[in-house]
Amino acid sequence: MNIDSIYTGFVIDHIGAGKGMMLYKLLGLAKLECPVAMIMNATSKRMGKKDIIKIDGDIDIDMDVIGYVDPDATVNVIREGKLVEKRDITVPKELKNVLFCKNPRCITSTEQELPHIFRLTDEKKRIYRCIYCDTKANN
Ligand code: ZN
Repeated sequence: MNIDSIYTGFVIDHIGAGKGMMLYKLLGLAKLECPVAMIMNATSKRMGKKDIIKIDGDIDIDMDVIGYVDPDATVNVIREGKLVEKRDITVPKELKNVLFCKNPRCITSTEQELPHIFRLTDEKKRIYRCIYCDTKANN
């Protein structure tokens, strides 16, 4: 599968080697009906090795999730076989229902309807904490 074979979808490129699988999980790509290709350890002139994910489907992908996993990744939007847009990825300040708080005493474990919200508390180290109990995100 190369970029030409994607009719409408996305190519998430320049993902740091080893982070592709985490992105695959957090984006929920396993639940998709459309073709998804994961390329691990592809050779990159700039990075040495990188992961690439190709999604052949007109779906919504959460740019915040990509920014959380690897803000240096690039997203190419393909429409009708043509590259129509390159999206900039930024580090999100907040993540909603992407990470789930594992603290059993957190209010989110008893109040099931509460959204799980994590906020960026350290921009340099990219540390996220639960807004309710301050537990650090560990993935
Ligand atoms: Zn919590």
